[in-house]
Amino acid sequence: MDQVFAPWRIEWVKREDKNPDVKECVFCELPERDDARENLVVAASEHAYVLLNNAPYNPGHLMVIPHAHGGDYTALDDAALLDHARLKQRALDALDAAVGPDAYNAGLNLGGGPAGGSVDDHVHTHVVPRYDGDTNFMPVVSDTKVVVQGLAETYDALHEAFAAQPDASDPGEDTAVPLDFD
Ligand SMILES: [Zn+2]
Repeated sequence: MDQVFAPWRIEWVKREDKNPDVKECVFCELPERDDARENLVVAASEHAYVLLNNAPYNPGHLMVIPHAHGGDYTALDDAALLDHARLKQRALDALDAAVGPDAYNAGLNLGGGPAGGSVDDHVHTHVVPRYDGDTNFMPVVSDTKVVVQGLAETYDALHEAFAAQPDASDPGEDTAVPLDFD
């Protein structure tokens, strides 16, 4: 059996029972909701936000997502590009502090189809923490790897790590940590 490392294929699970209220785009609607913790939105900047993957490949698997709706990365304007990149840096810092992985994979699925993503009309960067030996004990086969335990604990640890960053403050656990890069 071929084993392929393909964390990008583990996407936000858009199942009805998980997100019964999503009307148009899950990545547009989640940051607008009142309860950030319930919706796994952990931090937000002016043009982007951080969403924990609800079907993580590894503990701490998150996505950095521009607020603007659209599937074309090349269409992001300079402000959104810079803000999205800075938020990726902050997400790596927060993950270092919160879960301390040994390495990372980070990347985009663009265009759907062979790229493997389930949401191809709203750009998002996956950040997947890696741990020494994780491919030895985890089934990296087809699209089925799911770690569901510990999402709330991971959220709380990341929330605390973001709130401790420069220019951040702790808004309370039900609100995403606001980050101002200016
Ligand atoms: Zn959208």
